[in-house]
This record gives sequence, C-alpha cells and structure tokens, in this order.
Amino acid sequence: MQNLFDLDGRVALVTGANTGLGQAIAVALAQAGADIVLAGRSDPAATVEQVLASGRRCHSVYADLLPGTLSVAASAAPSGSVTQTGGLAGVVDQALAAFGRLDILVNNAGIIRRADATDVTEEDWDAVVDTNLKSMFFLSQAAARHMLVNGGGKIINIASLLSFQGGIRVPAYAASKSGVAGLTHALANEWAARGVNVNAIAPGYFATNNTEALRNDAVREPQILARIPAGRWGQPDDLAGAAVFLSSRASDYVHGVVLPVDGGWLAR
Ligand code: NAP
Repeated sequence: MQNLFDLDGRVALVTGANTGLGQAIAVALAQAGADIVLAGRSDPAATVEQVLASGRRCHSVYADLLPGTLSVAASAAPSGSVTQTGGLAGVVDQALAAFGRLDILVNNAGIIRRADATDVTEEDWDAVVDTNLKSMFFLSQAAARHMLVNGGGKIINIASLLSFQGGIRVPAYAASKSGVAGLTHALANEWAARGVNVNAIAPGYFATNNTEALRNDAVREPQILARIPAGRWGQPDDLAGAAVFLSSRASDYVHGVVLPVDGGWLAR
C-alpha cells in the first residue's frame, strides 16, 4: 500500500513557525517529505536548521502578518530571509517563487492578550482579532486562488479549545478562535468540491510562549493540569500526527473539521 501520509514533492507554507506549535508542525511536515516556506517576524534559524536536517528545502519570508503592517523595511528582516512587501498575497507569491508550487497552508500565527472584559482596549481587541482571524482569511484567500486552479491543496487553521469554550480573561482570543472554527466551516463548504480541504486543529494546553503566563500561575496551572485526562500538558510535537494527516492524501475526504488534540480536555 502506498504511504497515505507521504508529503514528498509537496510544498507547505507555515506561518509563525519560528517558535512553538508552528515550529513543530513545520518540522513534522518536512519529516513527512514536504519542502517548507516559513512566514514570520522572529529569527527563523532554529526551524530552518531542523527542516534542513530532515533533508528538505526551506525558505523563510520575513512577514508581519498583522493586517495593516504588511510592508516592512528590508533592514528589519533577519539576515538570510526574504522580506515580503506585497501584503498577504505577497507571502503566497514568495512561496511560489521559492519552490514553484504551494500545496499546503498552515495558518498558525496567533497572539493572546489577557485582561478582564471590562479592561480590554480597542487596540488589543483589534490586534488579537486581526492577527488570529483576519490574516487567516486573507492568507487562505490568496493560497486558494492558487490551489483552486492548480490541482487543489490543504489548508489547516490552528484553532483552540476556545473555539468551543469561553476561557477566562481572554474575550478577544475566544472570539477570534470561535471565528476560526466558523471560517473553517465556511471555506470548507465553498472549496471542498474543488479539491481544497480546509480543516482546523484545536490544540489543548501546550507548553509554548502562548501559555507561559498560565504555566507560571500558581493557582491556574494545577487547576488546568488536574482537568487534562492525559495528565500532562501537550508538547509541541504532540501535534505532528494531526498536522501530517490533515496535510496528506489520508485526509482527502475530510472537510470542515475542527480536530481537538487536547489530551482529552473536551471529553471531560
Ligand atoms: P507562540 O510560540 O507564541 O507562537 C506564535 C507564533 O505566531 C510566533 O512564532 C509568533 O511570531 C507568530 N506571530 C504572532 N503574531 C504575528 C504577526 N503579526 N506576524 C507574524 N507572526 C506572528 O505560541 P504557540 O502556542 O506556538 O501558538 C501558535 C498557535 O497555536 C497560535 O495561533 C495560538 O493561538 C495557538 N494555540 C496555542 C495553544 C497553546 O496551548 N500553546 C493552544 C491553542 C491554540 P513572533 O515570534 O514574531 O511573535
């Protein structure tokens, strides 16, 4: 039987892949055979090194994905990466220019801001919703414009448990991630019959920069841990299997799913 999970010859664009979950996903896709384009703001060196070590090609694009800040000065880019200046469509153009095709888009970049609902500022609201949701839509649009006329593709959105639940002191984040679930359904409905699979992964509580404040909170950390049936926080490479599955031929008839990878949290 052919390997249903083989990504040999595919090209994947992963946003926010210089750290945390995005880095683990980029490395997993490379280990499954894909060449990788990274799009993000911080130093890509660690991810580039791991992708190259798996024998695949890697190209990095310096891009601030917050809509409205898309043109960046060349001098701001870490050396060795290419600065993108054409908006979100320019990121897709850079991926195509690098490796000639784009088969997989992983919309991973995201931010979180914690505050009581009564104290959330408009600036924080816009930063969270625009980074987590608006940029996801317009990057998906740019990628799909290519995939729909070039044999299809796979779009994977990184959702959250707060695509299902309200969370505590993160109303903009919960709204954005609930929007990610809705957007995943909407785009799947529109593109499923045309060869583009749109799905999402909803990570549970993972040990990354995103959750540093929670993991350092002497009250919340043990409460969270006690509620996870698996009995531990997720590690970034716990997402590898779901990411490869949703990127591969194995998921060709899977559309519009928000797949929890949460150590059982939602089953509780
Ligand atoms: P992380 O290490 O903070 O990763 C977030 C990544 O997004 C970083 O690489 C960051 O780049 C990038 N990013 C943020 N804003 C950006 C912008 N405007 N332009 C370009 N890149 C930007 O945390 P993480 O946990 O791996 O988060 C990855 C995704 O998983 C996020 O969407 C998050 O909401 C989601 N998630 C995480 C958890 C968890 O428990 N950790 C649970 C559910 C969902 P910089 O380094 O430049 O800031």
